[in-house]
Amino acid sequence: MKAYFRAVYLIAKSAKKQFYTILILSILVGMLEGLQVKFNVLILTALQNIIGGGNNYTALIIPFIAFVVICPSYYLYTPADAYLRSLLLQKFRIQLLKNVYNKVLNTEMKLFEDNELYDNIYKAQENAYNDSIMDIVNSIIYIPLLVSAIGSIFSIIGSYNPMLMLLAVFTMIPYFISRYLRGEEYFILRNNQTEKLRVTDYLWGILCGRNTNRDMRIFGTNDYMQKKYYDNLKEITDDVWKYEKKQFIRTAILDSCRPIGLGIGIILSSYMAFHGDITVSVFAAMLTAFSTVQEHAEGLIDKVTKTINSIPFISNYFNLINNKDGIKQGHEELTEPIHTIQFINVCFRYPHSKEGTIKNLSLTINKNESISILGENGAGKSTLSKLILGLYTPTLGDILYNGVSIFKLNRNKLYERVSAVFQDFTRYQMTVGENIGFGKSDMLYDKSYVEEYIKNHSYLEFIQNYQHGVDTILGREYGGIDISGGQWQKVAIARGDIKTSDLIVLDEPTASLDPLAEAGIFKKFLEMSSGKISLIVSHRIGAARLSNRILVMSDGGIVEDGTPEKLLNQNGIYTQLYKSQSYWYQQ
Ligand code: ADP
Repeated sequence: MKAYFRAVYLIAKSAKKQFYTILILSILVGMLEGLQVKFNVLILTALQNIIGGGNNYTALIIPFIAFVVICPSYYLYTPADAYLRSLLLQKFRIQLLKNVYNKVLNTEMKLFEDNELYDNIYKAQENAYNDSIMDIVNSIIYIPLLVSAIGSIFSIIGSYNPMLMLLAVFTMIPYFISRYLRGEEYFILRNNQTEKLRVTDYLWGILCGRNTNRDMRIFGTNDYMQKKYYDNLKEITDDVWKYEKKQFIRTAILDSCRPIGLGIGIILSSYMAFHGDITVSVFAAMLTAFSTVQEHAEGLIDKVTKTINSIPFISNYFNLINNKDGIKQGHEELTEPIHTIQFINVCFRYPHSKEGTIKNLSLTINKNESISILGENGAGKSTLSKLILGLYTPTLGDILYNGVSIFKLNRNKLYERVSAVFQDFTRYQMTVGENIGFGKSDMLYDKSYVEEYIKNHSYLEFIQNYQHGVDTILGREYGGIDISGGQWQKVAIARGDIKTSDLIVLDEPTASLDPLAEAGIFKKFLEMSSGKISLIVSHRIGAARLSNRILVMSDGGIVEDGTPEKLLNQNGIYTQLYKSQSYWYQQ
């Protein structure tokens, strides 16, 4: 119930004007509806009088005029209501997505390694598109309205025979049961399908994606992928069909109680009219009222059950927003550029992993060092670089920046001091200016800054020939130009380098360049990053030879540490790598 009130508050806050206008309008219209029933009775009674020889025409005309005046209000109300609801929904949707995104932004990076996070995000943002919000808005408007409408009809007609009215309500109980169970089972169905729905979206992306579609043609995996997609889709639709079939059978059985009730109602009122307990006009009005009460009770049940059933959906949103996995920020800030990074017995384990990836690692990095991290696949190089950047925090141990613990630092402030280019860097299907300028977000709107950077860096000279300069869109998907993998890498390196930083990490973004071209880029990169701490993660010795310190990793620890010359004399892993690769670099 708490989630319900929180949701109401959230809706009222994100679309204040629309929310209160809908509320007032609907209450007014509801009151008019009650009046209409009253006028209906008055008209019928006056008519019967006149037919019986009476001449009180005023008693007929006044309620008739009132009735006619009220009618058009519905025609105005319906489009106004639709318009306001659509506005409310849009405003709420934007607010909800903003809140979800802020939560995501404030989530520990290591939780992105856990698929539960993606499921939770999916379930929370689903509320921006499903009906739960409208059901909650409707509940505020219609539940009191319908209760008062039913109450007013009760008070007018029920006085003739309360049993009849109670019968109308009781025959609706099975309807309530069927709608309640329907909603409850729908929530279970959707919740269980979250992962499958995400997989389906992913597979659709593979079927229609440019590179994936290319791969499928080459490898002949089209049929396999399609089958995988349709099998997945079929599993989802099979569950939906099963659910719908169950609902159909249950609804058909339980809803049939309603006409049975109406039948008993007709018999009862006919009996009363036959015995002269009620007049013919009251008999007619009672029958209408009986159906109206049933109709309103149906509406009421719909609203109540939909509200009850929307609560778990909106609770998914609040569960995400309330969880305590947010980045545990310290408040301290570094007052000077990073000059030392110290790892003290650092251990790191990924969520759901049995074994640690970084094992009791101690290390000190100083200003002006250019470090290369070498090691076999899975040794822990990328994990170590993410720890150095402050993207992950140690599971055990501590990392000190200029002597201040990572746990005491405000990490957003730390990120302002670091830069990185990752192996799986992002290829933004946007302009060159944006692709590079994202590294310098404070200058993003100043095109000339990026233009100047491109001019001063020869490895970006391929951009100089672009017809639209920095406004050229990269990537075909949104009408831009295609560039090679190596060119994408250069753009990503420019993005990392353009940022003013004390520490820059290059985590194998040059893997698709040949060893010599890669070594060339590393050489330039090391020149560009003089005065900073630079860290290059690579398989190849191209960068290592040029760095002033090499760390060789194995099984989550550092097994060799020293200058290239020192390590070469140690006859260890670096020496082996050097011997096996050095011919690449002989020119
Ligand atoms: P490297 O960069 O040296 O190839 P990584 O740091 O990427 O090594 O990975 C080190 C180890 O951590 C590997 O054994 C890998 O299986 C594990 N690992 C990496 N990412 C995750 C993850 N998201 N969840 C669980 N284990 C992971």
